Amino acid sequence: MRIANNIKAIEEELSRLAVKLIAVSKTKPQSDIMEAYHAGHRAFGENIVQELVGKHEALPKDIEWHLVGHLQSNKVKYIAPFIGLIHSVDSLKLLSEINKQAVKHARIIDCLLQIHIASEDTKFGLDHAELIELLRSEQIGELKNIRIRGLMGIATNTPSEKIVKEEFYELKSLFDGIKQSFFRDTPYFDTLSMGMSADYKIAIEQGSTMVRLGSTIFGER
Ligand SMILES: *Cc1c(COP(=O)(O)O)cnc(C)c1O
Repeated sequence: MRIANNIKAIEEELSRLAVKLIAVSKTKPQSDIMEAYHAGHRAFGENIVQELVGKHEALPKDIEWHLVGHLQSNKVKYIAPFIGLIHSVDSLKLLSEINKQAVKHARIIDCLLQIHIASEDTKFGLDHAELIELLRSEQIGELKNIRIRGLMGIATNTPSEKIVKEEFYELKSLFDGIKQSFFRDTPYFDTLSMGMSADYKIAIEQGSTMVRLGSTIFGER
């Protein structure tokens, strides 16, 4: 009952704030996902394509699957038939491949562009200049089977609330600016995925619309 209780408590907290919860179930067994499912939860996130595909095949088909981890172009084909939202798009090449696979399955695939906000340089994502370049490119207008729903970012893993807050503030400002300049007439550009177990409260204060929580729900990995 622990997972069900965690889900219910967090759902209640977030629904009041109109923030969507993605339960990040990576490394956790299918039985853990089913406990959350029976508590009424449907949106789950994974970071490895192979694990995501296996869980999708085994589990109820009304689960909405999110890919939150890095995606290689050659793996897009495995998730294209069913993926709900890809949080980690960081190049035009990847976006083109997602579009190509989406066409094959006669789908529109929702994507977020991952922005590099952390001070660690090992983290994936676009910087501001790369984001602008991508959005200004001519090819992007030709990709009719993807929808850019918003941005995603991962803050620095640090006990300093000040640093985390500044990074989320920066991402929210970028989100608002991009919306104004590139997505003014696209109401579906509405998603700002920021916040994990350690920092989701700060992320919500700074304007997150979607949090990705693993250990808070399922326990330590
Ligand atoms: C693992 C992971 C999460 C969840 O992390 P927790 O700290 O367990 O909440 C969120 N986002 C991404 C991209 C992840 O890889």
